[in-house]
Amino acid sequence: MRKYSVFAVAREALRDHTGWDRAWPNAAPKKRYDVIIIGAGGHGLATAYYLGKNFGITNVAIIEKGWLGGGNTGRNTTIIRSNYLQDPSAAIYEKSRSLYETMSQDLNYNVMFSPRGVMMLAQTEHEKRGYLRTAHANKLQGVATRFIGPEEVKKLVPIINLHGPRYPVLGALWQERGGTARHDAVAWGYARACAAMGMDVIQKCEVTGITKENGRVTGVNTTRGDIACDKLGVVVAGHTGVLADMAGFRLPVESLALQALVSEPIKPCMDVVVMANTVHGYMSQSDKGEMVIGGGTDGFNNYTQRGSFHHIEETVRALVETFPMISRLKMLRQWGGIVDMTGDRSPILSKTPVEGIFMNCGWGTGGFKAIPGSGWAMAELMAKGHSPLTEEFSMFRFREGKFIDESVAAGVAH
Ligand SMILES: Cc1cc2nc3c(=O)[nH]c(=O)nc-3n(C[C@H](O)[C@H](O)[C@H](O)COP(=O)(O)OP(=O)(O)OC[C@H]3O[C@@H](n4cnc5c(N)ncnc54)[C@H](O)[C@@H]3O)c2cc1C
Repeated sequence: MRKYSVFAVAREALRDHTGWDRAWPNAAPKKRYDVIIIGAGGHGLATAYYLGKNFGITNVAIIEKGWLGGGNTGRNTTIIRSNYLQDPSAAIYEKSRSLYETMSQDLNYNVMFSPRGVMMLAQTEHEKRGYLRTAHANKLQGVATRFIGPEEVKKLVPIINLHGPRYPVLGALWQERGGTARHDAVAWGYARACAAMGMDVIQKCEVTGITKENGRVTGVNTTRGDIACDKLGVVVAGHTGVLADMAGFRLPVESLALQALVSEPIKPCMDVVVMANTVHGYMSQSDKGEMVIGGGTDGFNNYTQRGSFHHIEETVRALVETFPMISRLKMLRQWGGIVDMTGDRSPILSKTPVEGIFMNCGWGTGGFKAIPGSGWAMAELMAKGHSPLTEEFSMFRFREGKFIDESVAAGVAH
């Protein structure tokens, strides 16, 4: 596959852009692969990429029922941060954040990583204590965050109202190298790099069954025929329960719709990401100028990739308290994705009761930021049978009571 570079752009400009290859071929399924990954979202594609890059395993198919990146990966609000509380979380999220720093160069694909800084507002004394604790924990973990006072918040975000009608801003947990990236580009960059290693990215192919023999996986049934494999990675976010059912076991994961919206584009007014977890809304400004706004999950389990009206109202009302200047903005689009929530708000990266099947799920409302780290760790788990980054995230922790409680860091939707 040809390298993207300034010289390639100049050459193609001279010949009316007639010489570009397809970014990745539209592959048809073969009869067997060493590894099949179900789900061409960011986590599935990153797993495949690091299987090839770090372990030389390239006889791999990534199977997607829709189009790649069409699940939560292409529907999120793109916040990247690693300021979690517990050590195992900080390790995997910080690994991920650091991989984002060089992702465009590593993949030769511009993912528009923008480390503009992420702040989580403290708007009650309780929240302030919680974030101070996280800042201390982050210091011990080597994650660069700090607690800042209201004056510094105002300096960084001049449009903020520190004295809202319900909750004043008491400070914020600030991560300077957190930020955003272009979500589709992350999926496209990984897909292109996987295809360049000889892997098959197979779209419009739904897995309808999982075949086993003597407690070991042998392959999958799909809408485009049966495909055999030695190892199977199940990386399907909101459809995790459905696939686990096909494999014959249950997981403590619930599926819920989470939604977001964007406004009409306006002139640059906010160059950091702000999360206001008490009033429950978060906002950043895209490169096009739209205000990207995220809200909460539905209060009931469902599989709809749609928004609901009451959430628009709740979220916008919360943000108008914090940013009065957005009260006259028109909203352009609203959408939803199906997120996979575990009880302790931490992911599952795990072997399963079926030999050869590995699960990667439970990223819930906050897995975009984790894509490269999760792919790195999952690839190691699948290739070697263990990974220091996944040890604590086994599905069996729920049976053993070894929860990784991230309700403060991840209980809010982002
Ligand atoms: C509105 C919203 C806002 C969010 N904001 C943020 C944020 O700001 N920051 C952050 O870090 N995270 C955020 N998230 C969460 C983040 O988007 C997800 O955690 C992450 O994208 C999950 O990636 P994935 O690859 O696991 O899943 P997905 O991208 O959903 O990919 C799974 C794929 O599996 C496919 N699939 C399912 N069943 C089958 C089958 N039977 N056969 C074949 N394929 C199948 C699906 O079609 C899908 O493409 C947000 C999510 C939403 C919905």
